[in-house]
Amino acid sequence: MELEVSLEDPPLQSEEPATTPVSVSFQIIVEGTKRGHKKLIDSLGYTYNIKSQRSNVTYWQCTVRPKVKPCKATVIQRSDKFVRGTTSHNHPPSPDSALTTKISSKVKKMAVQDLFKPASAIVDEVLLQEMANAPCPSLPNPEYLSRAANRQRQKLRPAEPKDLSFVLDEAHIPTHFLRADVRVHGRRHLIFATDQQLEHVTRAKSWYIDGTFKLCRHPFSQLLTINAFVRSEDYAKQVPLLFVLMSGKKKRDYREIQEVGLQHAYTHDEATFKYLRKLMALPFLPEGEITLMFERLASQATTTQVRTVIEYISRTWINGSVWPPSTWSIFNKSVRTNTDIEGWHNRLNKRAGPLAQNSPPKNSYQGPQMFLLVSRCKGLELTASIGGGGANSCTI
Ligand SMILES: [Zn+2]
Repeated sequence: MELEVSLEDPPLQSEEPATTPVSVSFQIIVEGTKRGHKKLIDSLGYTYNIKSQRSNVTYWQCTVRPKVKPCKATVIQRSDKFVRGTTSHNHPPSPDSALTTKISSKVKKMAVQDLFKPASAIVDEVLLQEMANAPCPSLPNPEYLSRAANRQRQKLRPAEPKDLSFVLDEAHIPTHFLRADVRVHGRRHLIFATDQQLEHVTRAKSWYIDGTFKLCRHPFSQLLTINAFVRSEDYAKQVPLLFVLMSGKKKRDYREIQEVGLQHAYTHDEATFKYLRKLMALPFLPEGEITLMFERLASQATTTQVRTVIEYISRTWINGSVWPPSTWSIFNKSVRTNTDIEGWHNRLNKRAGPLAQNSPPKNSYQGPQMFLLVSRCKGLELTASIGGGGANSCTI
């Protein structure tokens, strides 16, 4: 629509003669130089740094100062009034470098204001704002801008936990996101969800549990997510709704089969392998046939280890009141896949890559810093993640 209008009415300024005198405006960029000093830019594309300062007068000099024939152009500033000195510049202006100064200063400022917002998102935002009217042919490399922003705020970020006894600094966790800090059996688990995510997870009929080990740093070993399908008009998409940062001695130590030492038999003894596979296939039976088949399998249990597993399954999954077979039989149910979530993990992993390089891994892959990871989980806003899957549909 806007395009049509502009075709019909060409912009007025294009008809003005090129010789119209232009008034020059000035802008001070805080942290404009590499050393973090102020820089002055004018609307023509000249840049200046401070030559000297007295109580209410600042003398600026052009930044083009090669040893031979430095530019002597100056600007005199009295409070917020700028006057150009009498000497003209001995070189053409460089509009790109003025804009670059402005962009990188703005990126750094925003990065410090929000310590955990992805630097690339900040860079995109600033570029969009600043490039709206003036395309800049020699644009600073966005990756360089991101790295500079991250260096700037790295020292402002909180210290990473060294062990499980750390004091959780909630100032660095998004508001209303931490739900519980659980300490149990010498371990510690942090549970996160927004109000909206909690609401969805309590309403969901089915939960899907997923975990990733890649994204965690010591002392945490796993990021567990509870996912459910969330509907938005015609779309239904599986999204993570509850995040649990878990510590544990062994990655899979919650698995009953391993705890009773069956891992070896499962891998090396064919009979045990087949037997356990049958147990694991129980959910595929109609709920009415599960108990009968379980009892038949139970009667075949010979070793102590297998009997322990049978007792556990009987107690928890067959005769327990919380999870009777009717709640976990998936017979004839359309089981939806985890592809959406894998996509989410991939995006998070991809983003975590360059972040992890900030402090090089010692023996193995290190995930992003804990506070950063938590902030990324929060960043996965529901509405954004449900949509059609376009390039910007997910903030991770
Ligand atoms: Zn100059």
